[in-house]
Amino acid sequence: MSEQVSHQSIKVGVIGAGGRMGRMLIEAVNDNPQTTLKAAIERQGSSLVGADAGEVAAIGCLNVEIVDDLKSVVDAIDVLIDFSLPDATEQNMQICAEHNVAMVIGTTGFNEQQEQVLTQASENVAIVYAGNYSTGVNLSLKLLAMAAKAFGEEADVEVIEAHHKHKIDAPSGTAYMMAQAVAEARGQQLQDVAVYGREGQTGEREAGTIGIHAIRGGEIIGDHTVMFIADGEVVEITHRARARMTFAAGAVRAATWVIQQSAGQYNMQDVLGLNE
Ligand code: NAP
Repeated sequence: MSEQVSHQSIKVGVIGAGGRMGRMLIEAVNDNPQTTLKAAIERQGSSLVGADAGEVAAIGCLNVEIVDDLKSVVDAIDVLIDFSLPDATEQNMQICAEHNVAMVIGTTGFNEQQEQVLTQASENVAIVYAGNYSTGVNLSLKLLAMAAKAFGEEADVEVIEAHHKHKIDAPSGTAYMMAQAVAEARGQQLQDVAVYGREGQTGEREAGTIGIHAIRGGEIIGDHTVMFIADGEVVEITHRARARMTFAAGAVRAATWVIQQSAGQYNMQDVLGLNE
């Protein structure tokens, strides 16, 4: 265990400890002087159960054994960070709500029922839920709202995202957040104006719509561009994630913030003070 960890250190659990984000999160929890890894959880039947979380994250032994049951460790933690699958996160939200444990959720691709479970759970505990934990993306959301207000419906807006070939949902949670930021600033409901991809005889582009497109390939960590296409000029706001650590460090920052909040649902802009 790190020497800088004090008795007041925030006790963190990580779901999906062997995942791309899970491994980064374990490293980020260990790197943050305010937090200590106290639990690491994988799915039942995972070959990683019983292994040391630090070894799996390739940062050396942390003396935290990966378990397959959140209930067995939930009372040992102050906050759970969950970047896994919607079905797993749904169950974890119910367990954390019952045990009064705050959460930081990065899992994307929730269905309506899972959104409802999130709403119910956040009546009992504080939960940060964000499709993107990077500072740059959350700053971009503010810039998008500014651009959308300035252009109004003068500009056609298209959102283009690109991710690695392993990603199982589309469009990305971040693309939704970006489209949502534009729609909100223009006083629209995203579901009324979103157009996902285009194919065949689409007819002319309808004014006020927001096009959303997903590219998949290779190992792209996460690129997003929003184009404001006006007559005579185009503005593009682009964010490119260069390392998964940017999400992991942001999520750990959110974990240190959320334990001080009362029950409710928050986002990364709340954590960064961008909503003040
Ligand atoms: P991944 O590599 O597939 O990791 C998911 C991990 O969760 C895997 O280790 C998986 O185990 C584990 N898991 C599945 N079911 C579980 C259960 N019931 N209990 C415990 N662990 C379980 O995926 P990833 O790239 O890390 O992404 C994970 C999620 O985070 C995705 O929804 C992604 O879109 C999202 N994400 C969000 C952000 C953000 O900033 N918000 C950034 C990056 C990614 P097995 O492999 O053994 O099934």
